[in-house]
Order: sequence, then C-alpha cells, then structure tokens
Amino acid sequence: MATTDKSPGEESLARLPRDAVGTVQSEFAGEIVLPSNGAYDEARRIWNGMIDRYPAIIAQCAGVADVVAAVDFAREHELPVAVRGGGHNVAGTAVTDGGLVIDLSNMRSVRVDRETETVRVEGGATLGDVDRETQLFGLATALGAVSETGVAGLTLNGGYGHLSRQYGLAADNLVSVDVVTADGEVRTASADRNADLFWALRGGGGAFGVVTSFEFALHEVGPDVETLFSWYTGDDAATAVDRYREWVETAPRDAGVLMFAAHVPELEEFPESVWGDPAVAFLGSSRGDRADVDHVFESLRAGLTPVADFSRPMAFTDLQSMLDEDYPDGLRYYWKSIYVTAITDDLVDVVLQCNESAPSALSTVDIWHLDGAVAEVPQDETAFWHRDKPYMVTFEANWEDPANDDVNVTWAREGIADVQALPVASGRYGNFPGLNEDPGKMLYGENYDRLVDVKSTYDPSNLFRGNGAIVPNAAD
Ligand SMILES: Cc1cc2nc3c(=O)[nH]c(=O)nc-3n(C[C@H](O)[C@H](O)[C@H](O)COP(=O)(O)OP(=O)(O)OC[C@H]3O[C@@H](n4cnc5c(N)ncnc54)[C@H](O)[C@@H]3O)c2cc1C
Repeated sequence: MATTDKSPGEESLARLPRDAVGTVQSEFAGEIVLPSNGAYDEARRIWNGMIDRYPAIIAQCAGVADVVAAVDFAREHELPVAVRGGGHNVAGTAVTDGGLVIDLSNMRSVRVDRETETVRVEGGATLGDVDRETQLFGLATALGAVSETGVAGLTLNGGYGHLSRQYGLAADNLVSVDVVTADGEVRTASADRNADLFWALRGGGGAFGVVTSFEFALHEVGPDVETLFSWYTGDDAATAVDRYREWVETAPRDAGVLMFAAHVPELEEFPESVWGDPAVAFLGSSRGDRADVDHVFESLRAGLTPVADFSRPMAFTDLQSMLDEDYPDGLRYYWKSIYVTAITDDLVDVVLQCNESAPSALSTVDIWHLDGAVAEVPQDETAFWHRDKPYMVTFEANWEDPANDDVNVTWAREGIADVQALPVASGRYGNFPGLNEDPGKMLYGENYDRLVDVKSTYDPSNLFRGNGAIVPNAAD
C-alpha cells in the first residue's frame, strides 16, 4: 500500500471527475462496488490467496449493457481493466490495482439447444454450471477437470480436460462468441463473422474484449463414466510410471489419464502407515463401450497394489467435481506448465525428484496426456499453438503460510527450469502461467505475430491487457 493511507483503489478513485462514478452507477443494472462499500473486500477476493489487489471500481455486471457501460467508462477515464470470469486464474489477472474490474460472476446462465446440440454459456459461468445443464440431456462439451473453474478463462486460453483427447480443446468446441470490444461494440465472432477475432479468441486469451457468451458444440457423454483414481507408493510407484509410459502409446481416444507425483494426504481414506510418503497417482476416465471399458485400464494397473483406489463408474458431473475440495479458495497457489514431446527417463527423474523435494506436501507435479483430437487441428487454424506436443508437465505449488511464498514459488520455477533443460521440452500453457512472467512467443509460438495484428485491429490502445503478452503494434 502507498505511503498515504489510501489503497491504490482509493487513490485512483479520487483522481476521477466528481460525478463520473455516479453517472455510471445510475445507468448500471448490476452493482458498482467501491472501496468504501462493505462488500468490497469480498468482491476483490479471488481464488488464489496470494493475490491481494485493490481496484478502484468493481463493476458486477448483470448483462451485456452493463459490460458495454463498464468498457466505455474504463476507456473514457483511462482506467486499467481486469476482466473476471470464474476468478480462478492463478496469476490473478481477474483483479487489478487501481483499475476497473469488469466482473461477470453474476452472468452465469446456461441454455442448451437440443435441436442443434449446442449450449450458450454466459461469460461468468463455471464448468459446474455448464455440466449441470448439459448432463440433463446426456450431453457435454469439452471443458476442464475441476467444476469451480471459470469457463471463460479456461476456454480463451485453450482448455484441457477429461474429454480433450476425444473432442479437442474447449476452444475447439466453440461455434461462436459474443464479445464487447474496446470500442464498446457488441460483436459476434464465428467462422463466418469477424473470423479474425474468432481465430484469436480460440487460444489467444483475454486480450481482445469481454466475452459475454460462448456457444459450444455438445457431444453425448455419460451420464456415467468409468473413472480411474488410484495411488501408489514405493516400488509400485516406480512401476506405475513405467506402465503409464507404455499405456499412453496406445491409449484409445475416448480415454485419458493424467499421472501425478504427490505426497500421500493425511486423510482417513489413505492408510496412516503411508501418510506423507511420496506417491504416484493416476486420474483418468474412459467413455468407451461398456464391454471395452473394463479392459481399458487393465494394462495400466496390472500387478500393482494401490495404497488407495477410488476407481469406479460415476456420474460425469461427479468426476468433474471430485477434485474441487483439493483446491479451496484462499490457499496460496503458483502453477506453471511446460510441454514435452516424450516422457523420457530424464524427465521422470526430474518429476520424481522435484516431488520429493517439494517444500509443501500439498504440491504436485503432473503429466497430462494430450494428443488425440487436440493434435488433429492444424496449428494455425486457431490461435492455440502447442498442439503438436503430446504431454504437458505442470508444477502445482500449493501451500498455506504466506511466509513460505518464496520457497514454494522458487521450487516450481526451478522445476520448470530443470524440465526446460531437457531436449524434449518447450513452450508454455496460458492457463497455468505462474505469474505471467513468460514472453508471448513461448505461449503462442508462430501464431504470435498474427495475434498482435488482431489485437491492433480490435484493441489498439491495449485496454484489455489479459496476461500482458500480446501488445498492439501502436502501443508501447
Ligand atoms: C482448481 C483449478 C483447476 C483447473 N483445471 C484446469 C483444467 O482441468 N484444464 C485447464 O485447461 N485449465 C485448468 N485450470 C486453469 C484455468 O483454465 C485457468 O485458471 C483459467 O484462467 C480460469 O478461468 P477463470 O474464468 O476462472 O479465470 P479468471 O481469473 O476469472 O480470468 C482470467 C483471465 O481470463 C480472461 N477472462 C476471464 N473471463 C473473461 C471474459 N468473460 N471475457 C474475456 N476475457 C475473460 C481475462 O483476461 C482474465 O483476467 C484450472 C485452474 C484451477 C484454479
């Protein structure tokens, strides 16, 4: 906080013309939350407890007209803008010091169109909001793996989940997007309309405007899916890694397994004798024919004795929410990813050693298996670049005590650096961005220059900073 007793939000607010806030308040259907308001502290809080920022205004929008009013206000008064969807971005870009937060968390409606097998989702909806409505009809779109995550941030940066190997990224399932651009215009972007914007919104992140609704294609899924969630320690953990490396080579498209290195949680579901031990776990699902399903994970599990096994058929909505409680609001988080072309011996060594040296027992090192439908889309067809790498390694630093911020962030950064040093590693994923310290080309590869062109067309004054990696040609 500044040397005056004012927060950055209060300072910025004091610089605005006298009647400005009152004017926008009078035409706003939602709530305008100011630093003096009792709801302010709750409204500025996001999922990651590391982030503690003080905006001048939080505009809790009730609809598209509110979004337009908020965008116009920010542009006219040159306020920094943050857009909040589900508030789950680890870098905390949903909130900004001294600026205006365009908060869509009250815009969460979801409407399924059974005729066209599509779903229309407002810009503040969570994955759980979508799965709940689509599963009423035995349908789903490809989103992420934790139900409390926001659809918007996840989709705009790509979006991997249980259905990705079969149906692609969340962004690949987009049919159209309604977006308020920096000039306050409401535009629809699709293959036929504003195609350049549609291209950029599928993987280029939140730098192009405020998405008020997404239209996704739907697929038949569930209601039950076969779920794999099993934990191994000691020699079994080492064998599990080998099994995984073999299994992914021939994995069917309608199955996906993420392997992670962790420490056995001190929970009654796990034997006390192994609490705190380094472990390897599989988390996955299969949606093939019932007859095949029993065999899908057979080779992966053969001869292994899990210390805990939660695998069973379960409702798709349960699969999507089974990890929710592992990521509570307000804990401290730093997550960062890097892609790899193969799971080599060296990579396995780094993953297991980093897990053992993790300063927090809550942290994990994850290997995501991608490929399948994700890799079939040409790299220049959407802004999302890293389709050619079949695996992603994610360091998830999760801890409680603010005094341990440095040691945990350093652990994840050093782990990424160790993987980066391997010849199989490159790139970064925009949805696990650390604190957004990496350059745009690492995220967007050869699509970067085209993203800058689209940005220069729709947001020449850089109103929407997003992750800060795409700067328009004219701006500094
Ligand atoms: C517990 C947890 C589990 C996760 N699991 C997965 C997973 O399985 N797969 C995966 O791919 N990722 C996953 N992620 C990462 C996730 O995709 C990102 O954190 C994502 O940014 C969250 O989106 P959000 O809307 O909640 O973010 P917010 O913090 O609300 O927004 C982040 C940024 O996205 C942009 N944005 C948000 N809403 C809009 C909008 N309506 N219009 C325009 N721009 C907008 C803005 O730039 C904003 O600053 C997970 C994250 C968490 C915390």
